[in-house]
Amino acid sequence: MADQQRKLELSRNIADVKAAMATVPHHEKARLVAVSKYKPAEDLQYVYETGQRHFGENYVQELVDKSAKLPQDIQWHFIGHLQSNKCKTIAAIPNLFAVETVDSSKKADALNKACLSCGRTDALNVFVQVNTSREDAKSGVLPEECAQVCQYIQDNCPQLKLIGLMTIGMFGRDPSEKNPDFECLVDCKKTTEGMIPGLDLELSMGMSGDYLKALEAGSTNIRVGTTIFGARPKK
Ligand SMILES: *Cc1c(COP(=O)(O)O)cnc(C)c1O
Repeated sequence: MADQQRKLELSRNIADVKAAMATVPHHEKARLVAVSKYKPAEDLQYVYETGQRHFGENYVQELVDKSAKLPQDIQWHFIGHLQSNKCKTIAAIPNLFAVETVDSSKKADALNKACLSCGRTDALNVFVQVNTSREDAKSGVLPEECAQVCQYIQDNCPQLKLIGLMTIGMFGRDPSEKNPDFECLVDCKKTTEGMIPGLDLELSMGMSGDYLKALEAGSTNIRVGTTIFGARPKK
């Protein structure tokens, strides 16, 4: 049966990723987020049945639909571009674990307000997205703005819990060399923690092509899509 075959394929893929993660020292601290954009709810259900709980989605409506349909103990990560006018919809998802793409103080304000208005009881976990590659097409604060935006969240957004920094990084970096995006995010963490006492920031970095390198560089949260679910349809 096609369903059985797909189920087997997905459980193999996720086992392979976990086995690869286990080859990296200190990997045990890292969280695997299964990035499921464009993939049908059945695929997520199969991966869920292997024990996976953290899933990442990029599009608000897709996240809303899937979160309503799938088990309530899934921990959702919103990893798409954050728009102020969508903050309420996102914040209203009860089992939202984190928004990884806060890219300005203004957006932090909007999300903070949204959390208040939809009556979330616990502070919502957030990552500040950093545009470590300084590409025009990428969202995120510039590395030199990172500490300031983090400070802003700490001082002004009590409904948000700042837990880390996130980067996407440049596509096609030379895998045989140190990845400058990962190095940059590590630097941002150091600078920010130096400015704000008591913070211990996570690092969300690493995708299908580079998650092992990201773990070696200190990632605590890898976001893996293609390697688990297979190629996505082109937009
Ligand atoms: C799609 C996406 C991923 C997963 O990318 P893969 O290369 O398929 O693993 C990770 N992070 C973000 C922000 C994404 O948009």
